[in-house]
Amino acid sequence: MPPIGIYIHIPFCKRKCHYCDFYSITNLKEIPNYINYLLLEIQRRSLSFFEQSSIKTNTIDTIFIGGGTPSLINPKYIEKILSEIDKYFDLSSDAEITLECNPAASDAKSFSDYAFLGINRISIGVQSFLDDELRFLQRLHSTSEAMATIETARKYFDNLSIDLIFGLPGQTFANINKSLSQAIELDLPHISYYALIYEEGTPLHNDLLEGKILPIADEQSAEYYLQIGDTLGSKGYEHYEISNYARLGYRCRHNIKYWTCSETLAFGASAVGMINDFRYKNVSDVSRYFALLNNGNLPDELCEKLTFEERLTEFVFLSLRSLGLNFKDFSERFGVDLFALLNNEIELLVASNLATFENKTLKLTPKGYYICDEITLRLLKKIEKANVQNIR
Ligand code: SF4
Repeated sequence: MPPIGIYIHIPFCKRKCHYCDFYSITNLKEIPNYINYLLLEIQRRSLSFFEQSSIKTNTIDTIFIGGGTPSLINPKYIEKILSEIDKYFDLSSDAEITLECNPAASDAKSFSDYAFLGINRISIGVQSFLDDELRFLQRLHSTSEAMATIETARKYFDNLSIDLIFGLPGQTFANINKSLSQAIELDLPHISYYALIYEEGTPLHNDLLEGKILPIADEQSAEYYLQIGDTLGSKGYEHYEISNYARLGYRCRHNIKYWTCSETLAFGASAVGMINDFRYKNVSDVSRYFALLNNGNLPDELCEKLTFEERLTEFVFLSLRSLGLNFKDFSERFGVDLFALLNNEIELLVASNLATFENKTLKLTPKGYYICDEITLRLLKKIEKANVQNIR
């Protein structure tokens, strides 16, 4: 059995950024309590999976500690989490162990502690190297703090990633280029470059609805996206997922598990795991998370077995947004010859420079990535028309 990945959610932030829809709270007093319940969930869920034989291996080769702001909690808690995982699982000697850090909540001592504890990949939420943009995003750090965090982190870690955001209202490419050039100059092995999304229910989305801000036009956003991809490509970064760019050997192995529909366990409020074709999601509320665990339950908000159609749809969508849709792999999973179904579509996509087709893999180009949803829907319609369920 292939090894599985583990995601741990740390739902605490010093302050909520107005664009963010990840589950987190600002009551930091709950951290010690939360860690105790998190350890209980790791124990209870792991034992329950092993009892039901839902997990066919106990080998783990990636751990991702995300949030929220994991760097906000004392490293002694990270140690507790890792040793609890160690009680139930066999951690591969070459496991990738990532911790997300916020420049407003990181210090040099913590980085040396993380390295000592076995963390070997750090992902830093920089978002921009321009102070005006950081203020707009309501980040608590400045550009100089972000730079200092990167410099400190690289003393202990070679595998470093930063997150950047583009597409802010009124943003010019000259401004994007300042952040982009800074990231390239720092020679970071991995960059995640996301488009600003107006997530429903966030204060930023409300500002948009009230007309307080004017988003950039779609064409502008597409142009920026392609320019960012071109620039990073010319500097040797592989564009291996819609928003992710890596130097050779530095793809994020944990995220690739999601994009290849591999098995992942998840612990913590709002965390989502996928085991044996079952997807579970924990409650997005720390008090309910505590109460459920306290009453001897698992903190599930939902737990559902994916249907054949759902698995197929996810596989097509996630493959296209990342390393490409491999027809041999698809046929082994779903018993369907895609080439016979999509022959014309492939020709069209390749001729329009939206995809390449090599080694039985349909891989989107940057232009294709930008309209990934549209392409996925088109291909799924073709597959649906052939009534894949009956082909099974
Ligand atoms: S620090 Fe990160 S997780 Fe917390 S509110 Fe801001 S963007 Fe969201």
